[in-house]
Amino acid sequence: MKFVLATQNPKKLKEMSAILGELGVEVVSEADLGVKIEVEETGETFAENSLLKAKAVMEATKLPAIADDSGLCVDALDGAPGVYSARYAGHHGDDDANNAKLLRELADVPEEQRSAKFVSAVCFMLPDGRALEVEGECPGRIAFTLQNGDYGFGYDPLFIPDEYGAPDGKRPNTERRSYAQLTPDEKDAISHRGRAMEKLEAELPTFLG
Ligand code: IMP
Repeated sequence: MKFVLATQNPKKLKEMSAILGELGVEVVSEADLGVKIEVEETGETFAENSLLKAKAVMEATKLPAIADDSGLCVDALDGAPGVYSARYAGHHGDDDANNAKLLRELADVPEEQRSAKFVSAVCFMLPDGRALEVEGECPGRIAFTLQNGDYGFGYDPLFIPDEYGAPDGKRPNTERRSYAQLTPDEKDAISHRGRAMEKLEAELPTFLG
């Protein structure tokens, strides 16, 4: 079966294709199909927005579509930036400005109050409109300075997950490595998107009958 991945974010595309590839399905991107679908993210939750994205792309391509809507929820900021993660500092997708704003907002917040979680809502929609929705979360903390690494995008250099993936499963992140300092495998094993995709993988066979 051919699925279209409803994202124009190349980093997300790479992460989701890698995870879906293991499911043995053929994944194509909007770019592969020569379409670019702009969806207004008017939902108040990640789940509402992922459904809006999957629906728009399914309707435009007539193919089963998978969309992710994700973001960072910081406890000391009452869950912000949340669904506004991509446009926190004003411009959509300006990662540097978003990270700078997050650091400013948390400037006076001590270590013990810097807990946060990444959330990913993934929606899979069939051409008949039936949808399967799953959600994954990854708990962690917000660093005091950028912890850049060789990988990642968005808020990755500021997010210290509680755990990361290891060959024998998962291990506590005692070295305080940021998402940006984890290899793709180390991140996928514990990430919000990886966990949502794991649930999708588990529920898809029953959903597809
Ligand atoms: P979306 O494309 O509307 O789902 O926006 C998601 C936004 O949340 C991105 O622009 C990033 O700022 C942030 N985000 C989501 N997932 C990640 C991740 O895995 N690492 C870092 N930032 C992420």
